[in-house]
Amino acid sequence: MNFAQEASAHAEHTDLPLPLRPLADSQRATVRFQPLLVAGRIAVVDGGFVVYIRASTREVDTLHACFDDPRDGGRSLDVRRRFTLAHELAHSFLFDDRGPDDLPRKPVAGTHASELAALERVCNEAAGLVLVPDRLVSSYIRTNALDLLSYGAVQALQDKFRVSPDVLIIRLAKLLPQLHAADLIEHGGILLIERRADTTAVQHIALTPDAYRLFERKGGALDLSALTTQVPLVDSQSHECRIPCLYSTRRAIQEAVVTVAWLSRTNERALVTLRLKGSPQLV
Ligand SMILES: [Zn+2]
Repeated sequence: MNFAQEASAHAEHTDLPLPLRPLADSQRATVRFQPLLVAGRIAVVDGGFVVYIRASTREVDTLHACFDDPRDGGRSLDVRRRFTLAHELAHSFLFDDRGPDDLPRKPVAGTHASELAALERVCNEAAGLVLVPDRLVSSYIRTNALDLLSYGAVQALQDKFRVSPDVLIIRLAKLLPQLHAADLIEHGGILLIERRADTTAVQHIALTPDAYRLFERKGGALDLSALTTQVPLVDSQSHECRIPCLYSTRRAIQEAVVTVAWLSRTNERALVTLRLKGSPQLV
């Protein structure tokens, strides 16, 4: 993907979190912070693009000053705005039909709701690639000998790359098999769960291949009901509790150590790390 190559080229020799200004410049995109009804949008103008990012009137001057400072270049933006900006810049790669002056003319855009939704998914995925490039996250984990299946490591990565836990876990879902193959992490995974009333739903999940095999698939989707019913939903203000448990499915028996870290005071969302002991034994 052109966008991923472009993004990782920018990430080559840069301190974390990555600035977004170089990517905006290379796309000939001017970034404007201003009051908006939506989080962000992109417009074609003569000579390139303008990306608008929502901000309150009192924030506008500070945001522009930080973004224009070459040492900042968007590093200090909050995680939501960083994601929105990366997402809108991803849209700039989807303009085709360049004219003789090599300037973008026409957006690649769907007309049906499903096409639009697919386009948004592509841009979200590309935004994740920009903010958490494969090579940088792998080398960061290696250099710092991070124990990735721990709450502390996930939080360190969120802070370092300045992304939400959701973005990080979606990226790690793609990377965990490679990281495991490179002996950088043990068998296990990371899940973001959300509690609603008396049920618990998995929002995002990243697992190593062996951990995947522990879960049965139902219609192509992972069935995690067994895990989520075993995760104790303690009402705890403190963040971590470790529960050794024997986790079993029809196919495998495995001892797992589950760590639950609540991300919110209201105990609605929790980060769950799952560390499998030994290799899964097929039964
Ligand atoms: Zn979009």
